[in-house]
Amino acid sequence: MRIITHTCTACGTVVSANELESNRVMKCPGLGCENVLRFTDLPEEERTFFLDHAEQYEL
Ligand SMILES: [Zn+2]
Repeated sequence: MRIITHTCTACGTVVSANELESNRVMKCPGLGCENVLRFTDLPEEERTFFLDHAEQYEL
């Protein structure tokens, strides 16, 4: 399965698309990082792929 992740631009913490999609907007889990991550930060191509295969990610 293709793994889709987003890397925080502020601290480099990697967050899975699964987490982003379920939260839509979330504070970066990185220690001491206040950056806000959004599902829409993912490239459109990756968002489309994720949504097309969402059932595979719901484990
Ligand atoms: Zn961060």
